[in-house]
Amino acid sequence: MAEAGSFADRVKQQADIVRVVGEYVRLKKSGQNFTGLCPFHAEKSPSFAVHPTKQIYHCFGCGVGGDVFKFVMEMEKCAFPEAIRIVAEKCGIAVPRQKERSPEERKENQQRSVLVEMHREAQTFFVKQLEGTLEGKAARAYLEDRGLDKDAISQFGIGYAPSGGDALLRHLKSKYNEKLLVESGLVSRDQSAGRLFDRFRRRITFPIANESGKIVAFGARALGDDMPKYLNSPETPIYSKSNVLYHMDRAKDALRRQDFAILVEGYMDAIAVARAGISNVVASCGTSLAEPQIKLLGRFTRRVVVNYDPDNAGQTATERSLSLLLEQDFEVRVLALPPIGNKKADPDLFIRERGKDEYLKLLKEAPPYVDYLIARARQMDLTTGEGKLRAVNFLLPYVQRIPNRILRSEWATRIAQQLRLDEPVLRAALSKAASERRGEVKTQPELVGRAAKPVERRLIRMLAEAEGFRLELAKHLQNAHLYHGLETEKIFAALVIASLSGQPVLATEVGAVLEDRDRRLLFEILFEEANEPTWEEAMSCIEALQNRQAERELADVQRSIEANPAAPELRGLLEKKQELMRRLAAAR
Ligand SMILES: [Zn+2]
Repeated sequence: MAEAGSFADRVKQQADIVRVVGEYVRLKKSGQNFTGLCPFHAEKSPSFAVHPTKQIYHCFGCGVGGDVFKFVMEMEKCAFPEAIRIVAEKCGIAVPRQKERSPEERKENQQRSVLVEMHREAQTFFVKQLEGTLEGKAARAYLEDRGLDKDAISQFGIGYAPSGGDALLRHLKSKYNEKLLVESGLVSRDQSAGRLFDRFRRRITFPIANESGKIVAFGARALGDDMPKYLNSPETPIYSKSNVLYHMDRAKDALRRQDFAILVEGYMDAIAVARAGISNVVASCGTSLAEPQIKLLGRFTRRVVVNYDPDNAGQTATERSLSLLLEQDFEVRVLALPPIGNKKADPDLFIRERGKDEYLKLLKEAPPYVDYLIARARQMDLTTGEGKLRAVNFLLPYVQRIPNRILRSEWATRIAQQLRLDEPVLRAALSKAASERRGEVKTQPELVGRAAKPVERRLIRMLAEAEGFRLELAKHLQNAHLYHGLETEKIFAALVIASLSGQPVLATEVGAVLEDRDRRLLFEILFEEANEPTWEEAMSCIEALQNRQAERELADVQRSIEANPAAPELRGLLEKKQELMRRLAAAR
C-alpha cells in the first residue's frame, strides 16, 4: 500500500509501531517482541504481539495482523489516508497539505470538522444562556437543588437551551447553511411546514465528548415536565451513540490507574460520581450498552462495576449489559444501591443523601454478578415447579454466555444450592440448552497454523529473513518444485516471487497478496523465536522436503500398482517404485 518514496512510505519508515500500538494497548516486552491483550477480541491472557523490527503486529488468538497503518485503520475505523495522517501526527512527522486525499474524503473530513466547530459554538451559546439569562437563572436554581454548584457547572460544561424554539438556530444561521444545520442534529426540520427549529428547547444541556475530548453531541434534560425527560442528539456524521461513553475523555487515566470502571446510566449519575472524586466512571447514555462501547472500555480496563438505576428499566438494562460484558470476558460486579427511605436510589441521589464515603464502601463490597443474578432469581416464587423453571430460565442465558467451562460448571453448583434445585437435573437442562444454542456460537478461528510442519515453517522464516542466501534458496525451491502440494504452498509461492525480484522482502507486502488464513500463518511464523538461519540448515530443510516429496510420490505409485494396471504400464511403475525407495533409503 505504501509506495516507495511516497509520504505513506516515509511515515512507515519513521513510525515506531511499538509506540503507536502502545497508545492503545498496554504492551510488555517479551523476548524480542512486545505482547499485550488483543484490542480486537476479548481475552484475559495476552496473545497479541508486536514485532519491533519487522514493524508488524499479530494476534495468535483471533488472527488479525498487519502493519502500523492497518492497526490504526482497524482501531480508529478510518480509511488508509486518515491512518497515515494519524500515525504521522503521533510520531511528530509534518503532514503535507492535504493534496493527496481523494476529493470525497477531503469533503467528508471538512464536513466533520465543521460539525465539530458548530458543536463548540453551540456549547458556548448554551453556557452563556445558563449564566446570563432569566430563563437560565431558573435552570441554575434547579441545578443547585440537585447539588450542582458553580464549580460543577463549569467543570462539566453544563448549559441551557432556551425555550424560544429558534434561539440557537438564529445564532448559527449566519455562518452555516441549512443542510449542515440539520446534519448537525442541533436543528430539526418541521416535517409538514419544512421550517427549521432548535432540537433542544427549555432543557439543561450536557456536552457529550468523544474519547479525545471533542464535543460531538449533547444530552439534554427537560427543565419542566416536557417529554421526554432526557433527549439526546441524533446519530450524525460525528456522533454514534453506540461508540461513545459519556465522561470517557476524562476517565481514561483513572481507568488505567485503577483498572476498573464504574458504569452508570446517565450523565447526571456520572457527574455525581465524578464530583465525589471517583473519576473512573463512565455512562452509557441510554439504557442499553452497545458492543462498540464495551470494546472502547476494554481498551482501558476489563473490570466493571455496573451501577444502573434500581428501577425496572435499570434492572433490565443491567441484565442486558451483563450478558454483553460476560460475552466479552469482562470481570463484572453489580452495585445495587439500597433505597433511601422509600425512594429507589440512583448514584446521583444516593451520593447526595448518603455521601461519598458510604458510596465508596458499597462500591468496594459490590458482589460479583453471579450473586446479583441469583438474588434476582430468588425473588421469584420458588415454591412451585413452574416458578423454579422460570428462575432457571432467567439464569440460563447468562450461564451460556460464560466462555469459561470451569466457571460455568461452578455456576451450576451455586445455582442449584441457592435455588434448592436438584443439581443433576439442572446440569442436564444447562447442557441441553448449550447444545441447542451451538448453531449461533461464534466459530473459533481455525488453527490453521498448526498444520504446517516445522521444516516448512523454518524455510518460510529463512525466505523472509536470510538476506545472505535468500535468492539462492528461492531458486532451489522453485526449480525442484519442492513446495507444490504443501499446505503452505501459497505462502512459499509469494515469498519465492518476492525473493526472486532481488528486492528486500517485506512481511506486510507478502502478507497483502495472501489470503487471510495464509497471511495469518506467515505472521505467526515470523513471530516465533528463532536462531540466525544458516545455509547448512537451509540445505537440510530442503533435503527433508525432497524426502517428503519422494514419500508422496511413492504412495501415489503404490496406489497405481494396486489398481492392477496393464503389463507395460506396471513395469514402469515398479521401476519407479524401486528408484524412489533407493532414494529414500539413501537419505536415511
Ligand atoms: Zn485478537
